[in-house]
Amino acid sequence: MKGTDSQPEIVEGCRLPVLLRNGDGWHMAEILGKKDLKGKNLYYIHYEDFNKRLDEWVTEERMDIAKLVQPSKEAKTPKKEGVKSGTESRPSSPEREVVSTPNGSAAPTTGNKKFSSSSRKRKGADDSEIDPLATPTSSRNNTPTLGLQQQNNVALNEDGSKKPRQTGSMVAHHDDIVTRMKNVEMIELGKYRIRPWYFSPYPQELTSLSIVYICEFCLKYVKSKKCLERHIQKCLLRYPPGNEIYRKGNISFFEIDGRKNKAYAQNLCLLAKLFLDHKTLYYDTDPFLFYVMCEQDCKGYHIVGYFSKEKESTEDYNVACILTLPPFQKKGFGKLLIEFSYELSKCEGKTGSPEKPLSDLGLLSYRSYWSQTILEILITMTPSEGNDRPVITINDISEMTSIKKEDVISTLQHLNLINYYKGQYIITLSHEQIDTQNKAMEKRKVRIDPKCLHWQPKDWSKRGKW
Ligand code: ZN
Repeated sequence: MKGTDSQPEIVEGCRLPVLLRNGDGWHMAEILGKKDLKGKNLYYIHYEDFNKRLDEWVTEERMDIAKLVQPSKEAKTPKKEGVKSGTESRPSSPEREVVSTPNGSAAPTTGNKKFSSSSRKRKGADDSEIDPLATPTSSRNNTPTLGLQQQNNVALNEDGSKKPRQTGSMVAHHDDIVTRMKNVEMIELGKYRIRPWYFSPYPQELTSLSIVYICEFCLKYVKSKKCLERHIQKCLLRYPPGNEIYRKGNISFFEIDGRKNKAYAQNLCLLAKLFLDHKTLYYDTDPFLFYVMCEQDCKGYHIVGYFSKEKESTEDYNVACILTLPPFQKKGFGKLLIEFSYELSKCEGKTGSPEKPLSDLGLLSYRSYWSQTILEILITMTPSEGNDRPVITINDISEMTSIKKEDVISTLQHLNLINYYKGQYIITLSHEQIDTQNKAMEKRKVRIDPKCLHWQPKDWSKRGKW
């Protein structure tokens, strides 16, 4: 059914309305790919303005082909020569403006929705188009991940320097169109089968399989159940390869050094990439620490989620990437990860903030964590001597919580708590807000207990090497 007289050819970049999976109406979508399955055309589509995890393969039955819009010509015009897939954008990188899009062409920076999903991968000061669901993009993106050739664990800085994250290099044998499409159909991790949300650069020979099997302890991936069984007999790990720095009840945190446990760190990044889309990929895990949260039972310590953190952050980031694995989402684990990250910052005597951009879900978790943490303080305050009402400064809140001042301010604004009254700023809490807060806190049964954290911050700047 292609290119007949009655039907225009449906190619990558075309847009048309597609019937949503639940039958809930039509939504404009972009064609990202096409394949033939038993003589039937399947199209990989991205719903405009929807998160990419909803991208899917559809048949023509769900497509309103009469309303097909052909790709506009200017979108195909290359912006820069030397387009490289997955190139990281950094202030110091000579390649910072190079972006990659389908078929090696460069995407327009603004005003063309057609490439909106691809633009989410790009970071850079000149990148004016951002994910509407994410926070503003920062000019740099310190994400520990890895390139497309896992085994080829090479030093990547072009000038041979060992500076942290100056390198954005990647193995560029994939067109961006590939990285826009989910490539792994299903993973098996411990007792869970999980459907990935986004592309992750697992070896190509694995992506044709219906299931990729992953050892839940060392995170090594194999191609079959048999291989996994063989692996498990040899694999001695029953917990992540690092120090257990926290344990309370059945919840533990392990600290993994991205330099010392490179294979694990890289496997973790690969796994995480299946569920994180807003960060760029590159190799170097050395400058990062990984904090893996596990649930313990008689069989071992099972990964629930993790966050990564730069050993040295010049911008006060206390989290680079953060993820709760899908089977554990909506159970309060995300907030526990965030709470833990701030507990580390408290030990360091610093305030911190997560690296931007946050994913849509990440932003929701942080907003909620910030609100609850700040409200908890405000509600329990009592008037100080000589005052008829409690007095607190933004700095106080920031110091008590390790939440960066900017985030405290934005949260207070978001909650609409600040009023100007008789020449001074006052915070007014309604009974309703207090009720909502109390109910929310009752739900947070599991909390981080600082007494159970056994951890000393290291001064990485004095080590010379990560
Ligand atoms: Zn293993």
